[in-house]
Amino acid sequence: MSERVKEVIRLYEKHINRGLAKLLKFAGVEAAEHRAFGMYVVDEEGNYYLDCLGGFGALNFGHRHPKIVEAVIRQLNLMPLSSRMLFNGVQAELAKMLSELLPGDLQYCFFCHSGAEAVEACIKLSRLSTGRRKIVAAQNSYHGKTLGALSASGRGIYRHPFEPLLQWFVHVPFGDVEALEREVDEDTAAVILEPIQGEGGVIIPPDDYLPAAREICSKHGALLILDEVQTGFGRTGANFAMEHYGVIPDLVALAKSLGGGVMPIGAAVGNERSFSSLFENPLIHSSTLGGNPLACAAACAAIEVLQEEKLSERAKASGDYFLSSLQRVADEHSELIKEVRGKGLLIGVEFYDADVATIIVAGMFRRHVLVAYTLNNPFVVRFEPPLIIERKQIDEVVSSFAGALMDAKKLISQLA
Ligand code: PMP
Repeated sequence: MSERVKEVIRLYEKHINRGLAKLLKFAGVEAAEHRAFGMYVVDEEGNYYLDCLGGFGALNFGHRHPKIVEAVIRQLNLMPLSSRMLFNGVQAELAKMLSELLPGDLQYCFFCHSGAEAVEACIKLSRLSTGRRKIVAAQNSYHGKTLGALSASGRGIYRHPFEPLLQWFVHVPFGDVEALEREVDEDTAAVILEPIQGEGGVIIPPDDYLPAAREICSKHGALLILDEVQTGFGRTGANFAMEHYGVIPDLVALAKSLGGGVMPIGAAVGNERSFSSLFENPLIHSSTLGGNPLACAAACAAIEVLQEEKLSERAKASGDYFLSSLQRVADEHSELIKEVRGKGLLIGVEFYDADVATIIVAGMFRRHVLVAYTLNNPFVVRFEPPLIIERKQIDEVVSSFAGALMDAKKLISQLA
């Protein structure tokens, strides 16, 4: 390790979060990133890493996609932040592009910076437009860590230290239609769901779940909020995961890859019903820097790239290949691996033992391939590369996975 990297880690320990530094070091990470392009990250010492984590879904377009970078530089030289007084054409253009890209009548956009903020906006808009208070969410869900988004999230260890959280949030098992039927009533403002639980460990619901959720919401006059922060922009082999199920929500939360892997930006996009109360009091929810021209320029270019490069179709084909390659390796290690599952390029490998999952993440890092476990489920290692990944890079990831498994087996037999 170079003196420079030692210094960066020391600064993390002294000024950022020594617990986080410990966690990263435990996973074998003793390197600091310096630059990146496409599928690769380069550290301060010039080592290359194949990025199969994709910033938890924020890098669907890869690092520094040239068209997106160019759009941002152009906007940087014009006007990066808004005056907040005049209309802004770039934001208006992005809102139009999003409403055209999304299915159905999702037409109005509120812009912010992150997934959690997009979820906050969805929760507030649902309460505002229905005049109701109850929010039904799923166990094991992940919607972000601000207090409102956390109230919707379904993992105890993130929630308990902050309780009491917001009132009138209830959690039901994900994928269980009857549980939704029991819980959704005339007091329910919204049901909030991820179409596929990402941080929960890549959990794909039964095919009839989202259509049933839509029906139940409509029957009781509740809104359906879909959180596509992680599943959006081609990740699962469709522009949005809702398209697999033919379901159109009243509100959708977007972030991560909306910024094209270059800028942070989030959005709550909704239909007439979910937004109309906001029009009566347009400043009841706002953000100073949300929807700034720089981030909007990145998002506009990202949507163009998504379509021009047919990234959703690519994610589907690459995902099928990736999944079957991982399955072949998993079949040889069935005593360690419980299941390989995924849709498009949102793939999870579930281990019987969370420590083995950590050893695999560390083993792949040693081989310069980036993967990580899912935030709500440490038994699951996620493979979530930029959608531009090529076959030979998938082969490289799979062979590094196989190598890490062999190392793990040796280690386990030494410890036995
Ligand atoms: N919703 C989902 C489905 C997510 O996966 C995440 C982040 N993993 C969030 C919300 C929160 O996004 P952010 O970290 O940008 O606040």
